[in-house]
Amino acid sequence: MKLFLASSNAHKAAELQALADAAALAIEIGSARAVGGMPAVAEDTGTFVGNARKKAHALRAKLPADAWVLADDSGLCVAELGGGPGVESAYYAGPQGDAAANLAKLVATMSGVPDERRGAYFVCVLCVVGPGGAEQVFEGKCAGRLSHAPRGGAGFGYDPLFVPDGHGASLAELGDAVKSTLSHRARAWAELAAWARGRK
Ligand code: IMP
Repeated sequence: MKLFLASSNAHKAAELQALADAAALAIEIGSARAVGGMPAVAEDTGTFVGNARKKAHALRAKLPADAWVLADDSGLCVAELGGGPGVESAYYAGPQGDAAANLAKLVATMSGVPDERRGAYFVCVLCVVGPGGAEQVFEGKCAGRLSHAPRGGAGFGYDPLFVPDGHGASLAELGDAVKSTLSHRARAWAELAAWARGRK
């Protein structure tokens, strides 16, 4: 089964392909580049599910009728920020979607906030749209807390600041092998994998 990924984020594509391979699922994550790239989509629905659905259907409209599409909408929800940046995670520091600037803004915003108020969680919604437009939605969460300074070089986005529950190091220090066992994306993927196996 080939799933065209409604994203131009190469990190997401690599993480999702690794999850498919680890689950021994014959799923290939196809690139939107094959059909001229991911169309611009305003992520303005206000929800992870709504944005994932919107991205999936936007790419699906460019593909043959029998193609399958996978969209991922994800973000970081910080309790101290009322759940923000949440669905705005990719554009926290501005519309240019600069990951380093987003991280720097979060570090600055949370500066001086004590440990007991640094709880946060990542959310990932995966939306699969198949022939005829039928949709499946899967969700995963990963709870943890924000450290005071970024650490580590693996992963992407807010990984250097996020310490998952049960660990003393950031996701960017723990690396892809550990991240793939506990991340929001891995947990959403586990739901998707169970669904995909049931279709066989
Ligand atoms: P999306 O592409 O609209 O889903 O935006 C997701 C944004 O949330 C990314 O740009 C990152 O800022 C953040 N994010 C989502 N997943 C992760 C992750 O696994 N690690 C770090 N940051 C993430």
